[in-house]
Amino acid sequence: MTVFTVGVVTGIYFKDYLAEAIPPSVAATSGQEKPDVSPVSARPRDAYYPNSEDLAPDEMRVIACGTGMPTQRMAQAAACFLVELGNGDKFLFDIGSGSAERISALQIPYTYLDKVFIGHLHADHFGALGELFIGGAIMGRQVPLRVWGPSGAVEELGTAHAIEGMKQMYKWDLAGRVGMIDWRGFQLEANEFDYRAENAVIYQDNGVTIRSFPAIHAIDGPVSFSLEWNGLKFVYGSDSYPNKWFLEYAKDADIAIHECFIAVPDLVRKMKFTPEQALTVGTQIHTAPEAFGKIMSEVKPRMAVAYHFFKDFDTTAEVYERIRTTYDGPLSLAEDFMVWNISKDGITMRMAAVEEATWAPPLTGEAQLPGKNDRQNYSEATGVPVENMNNSDFIAKGRWGAVDDVLRGVYKEASEVVGRELPYPADQKAKEQ
Ligand SMILES: [Zn+2]
Ligand SMILES: [Zn+2]
Repeated sequence: MTVFTVGVVTGIYFKDYLAEAIPPSVAATSGQEKPDVSPVSARPRDAYYPNSEDLAPDEMRVIACGTGMPTQRMAQAAACFLVELGNGDKFLFDIGSGSAERISALQIPYTYLDKVFIGHLHADHFGALGELFIGGAIMGRQVPLRVWGPSGAVEELGTAHAIEGMKQMYKWDLAGRVGMIDWRGFQLEANEFDYRAENAVIYQDNGVTIRSFPAIHAIDGPVSFSLEWNGLKFVYGSDSYPNKWFLEYAKDADIAIHECFIAVPDLVRKMKFTPEQALTVGTQIHTAPEAFGKIMSEVKPRMAVAYHFFKDFDTTAEVYERIRTTYDGPLSLAEDFMVWNISKDGITMRMAAVEEATWAPPLTGEAQLPGKNDRQNYSEATGVPVENMNNSDFIAKGRWGAVDDVLRGVYKEASEVVGRELPYPADQKAKEQ
C-alpha cells in the first residue's frame, strides 16, 4: 500500500491514508494496540535528516533543491531536483539560482555530485551552475563537473556555447586559483545533444538510462528528461507549454515532475502583471495549473509533482484547486527540501530538516596538492600568460613586510604540529634567488 506520511493526500487515497494516520493515542483508547512510547528511547521521526539514512539498493530518493520562480527570494530557490539511486549514482536536474546552498545542506560529498542535466538555459534553471562548479571544487570535488544540455536553433544558443562562456566569465577566478589548489575539480565538461531528438538516449551507464525529448518554451532548445533505473522511472520537465512528447514519454513514470506556474489571477495580484502579460506568461509560455492537471490525468504517474510557483499561504489554494479541476491522482505541491523515497513498494513524501551551517563534506579520495604543470597547462589551454598568474612586482612590492614575523609564527606552529618543516614563502623565495 502506498503510504503518504506528509503532504497533500488526494480523495481516492484518503481511506488508505486514514488507516495509517490514526494516532497511537486513538488506537490505544479504542483498545486496538498499546502505544509503544518511552520517555527515554527515540521514536521514529517523520522528517528526513540528511546524512542519517542509508539508501536501499532498490530505492530512489528525490530531493527538491529549488522549486521557485525566476525571481529570487529566501523561501524558495529556482528549479533544481536531485535524484539519488541505490546503486550510488546521483544526478542533478537543473540547477537554478539559489539552489547551490540547498545542495550544500544535504551534506553529500561533491565528488558524487558531478552530473548535471540542464533542461533549458534560462537562469532560473542553471543560474547556480557556476557556484557548484567553483564552490564544489573548493569543497572537495575531485573529478570534473559534467554537464548535459540541449543544442539551440543556432550554435550560439546551445549548452556547449553557454559552458564555454562560463569558462570565459570565470577566467580571472580560475587563473587566480590554478597552481594553488587541487585542480582536479576545476574542469567543466559540456555534453550537448540535439534538442529535437525524441526520447533519445543521452546517458547510459551503471544501469541508468537518461533520455531527452523536446519541450515548448520561449524559443527552440528546451527539453524534458526521463531517467530509468532498476524498474523505476523518474521524469523531469524543465519548463514547457503542455506538449505531446511529455504525454508520450512520461507514461509509466513513478514520479513525474512538471512545471506548474502560478495561477493567472495571482500573476496580476502578486506580480503586478497586466492581464495580457499574465495570460501569455501564465498559460502560453508556461503550464497553467489546470493544464498541469490535464497532463497528469493522461500520464497517470505514481506521484505527480508540481513546481515553479511561489508556494505561500495565499497562493497554494488557488494552484491546488485549479489542478483538481482536471486531476484527482497522487499529487505533491513541491517546495524546497521536499523529499520522496521511491521503491516498488511505495512512495513516501517528507520534508528534510536541514542544518544551515554546513561545512565541507568528507573527501572521497586523498587530498592532492596542486600539480607542477597546472599553471602551464592552463596557460596553454586558455592563452592566459603564466606570468599573469602571479602578482606583478608592482603589487608584490605593496606587501606589508611587518606581518612576516607574525605569520612566520603560524608556519612554525603548523610545522611542529605536522612534524615536518613548512617553509615561510618569503624566506623560501629569498633562498631561491
Ligand atoms: Zn524557462
Ligand atoms: Zn523556469
